Amino acid sequence: MIPASLPLQHVPSPPSRWQRLWREAVTDPRELLALLGLADRADELLPARDTGFALRVPRGFVARMRHGDPADPLLLQVLPRAAELDEVPGFTTDAVGDGAARAATGVIHKYAGRSLLIATGSCAVHCRYCFRRHFPYADETAAAGRWRDALAHLAADAASEEVILSGGDPLSLSTARLAELTDGLAEIPHVRRLRIHTRLPVVLPERVDESLVDWLAGLALERVVVLHANHANELDESVAAACRRLRDTGAVLLNQAVLLRGVNDDADVLATLSARLMACGVLPYYLHQLDRVAGAAHFEVEDARAGTLVEALRARLPGYLVPRLVREIAGADSKTPL
Ligand SMILES: *Cc1c(COP(=O)(O)O)cnc(C)c1O
Ligand code: SF4
Repeated sequence: MIPASLPLQHVPSPPSRWQRLWREAVTDPRELLALLGLADRADELLPARDTGFALRVPRGFVARMRHGDPADPLLLQVLPRAAELDEVPGFTTDAVGDGAARAATGVIHKYAGRSLLIATGSCAVHCRYCFRRHFPYADETAAAGRWRDALAHLAADAASEEVILSGGDPLSLSTARLAELTDGLAEIPHVRRLRIHTRLPVVLPERVDESLVDWLAGLALERVVVLHANHANELDESVAAACRRLRDTGAVLLNQAVLLRGVNDDADVLATLSARLMACGVLPYYLHQLDRVAGAAHFEVEDARAGTLVEALRARLPGYLVPRLVREIAGADSKTPL
C-alpha cells in the first residue's frame, strides 16, 4: 500500500503497453530459432561460446522475419554468430573515437553546432554490427538523473544549436524522463533543434504512443527524428502507422541505414528500402559504411562495391531517394562522404 502522504510523483506509474512488450522481447537464441522453425539448426547456426553481447529482439520484429530462412535479412541483424568471435586486424572496441570526443558525462561533441547526448545505454533490439557494443554505458549515460552535467555543457556552449539524443536508444526512456530533458533545454536560448536517433519506431512501433506524440508535438523546438532501418521488410504496416503519427507532430523524418553484407548489399534491396521509406513519409539520409568494431567484420562491404551500389541507385531513383554513402572517421569534422 502507498502511504497517503507520499508525493504523487513518487507513485510508480504502471508500465505502458510498449514497456510490457519491451520486457517480453526474445533474449534466448534457441527460442528465436524455434519461433522461426529453425530449432534443429541451432547447433550449426549459434556460436559455441558467449559472444559477450546478448541477443535481444522484440516479438513484433521477429514476426516480420521469414519462417525457415536462416539467411533472412532481419534475422541476420540480431542472431549471434560464431564469426563475431574472430579477431580481425583493424576491428577494435572504440572504432569511432568516442572515447576521445567526450565533452561531459554522456555528451559527445565531435561536429560544429551539434552535441550528441548518450541518453541511455538501453536498446529494444541488439544489432550485432552495433558500433557501441563495447561502449562503457554504465559510466557514460546522461540519463538516470544525470541530465544536469549535459545541460550545463550545452548552456555553456553558445554554438550548440542542435541537441542529438542518441544512445543506446533515447526512446527507451520514459516520456516523463524525456520531458525532464526538454524542460531543461527550453531554458537554453541558443538550442533551437532537437534530433532523435532511434530504432524504436521500427523495432517496437508501439513506442510511438499518445504520450510520446503529445510530448513531441508540444515542443517549441524544431524536431528531426532519424530512424534506423536497413531493409524494407522491417517496415510493415505497424511501422508505417508509427511514422504517420510521428509526422503528424511536425517532425521531419529521416532514415539512416548501415550497409551490411548479406542483409542489404544489393541494389534491388536498397532501392526497395528507399521506396518503402518514401511510402512511410521518411527520406533516406545516410547509408553508413560499417564502423570497424570488433565482432562485426563479417558484415563489412568493401568501399568499391559500396560505391557501385550507390551509383546503381542513382541511376534508377530520384535524387532524394539516394542516401549519402558515408564513413565515420575518428577525428574528422563531419561524416566522410565516399
Ligand atoms: C553522426 C554524429 C553526429 C551527426 O552528424 P550529422 O552529419 O549532422 O548527421 C553528431 N555528433 C556525433 C558525435 C556523431 O557521431
Ligand atoms: S538500436 Fe542502434 S544503438 Fe541500439 S544496438 Fe541497434 S544500432 Fe546499436
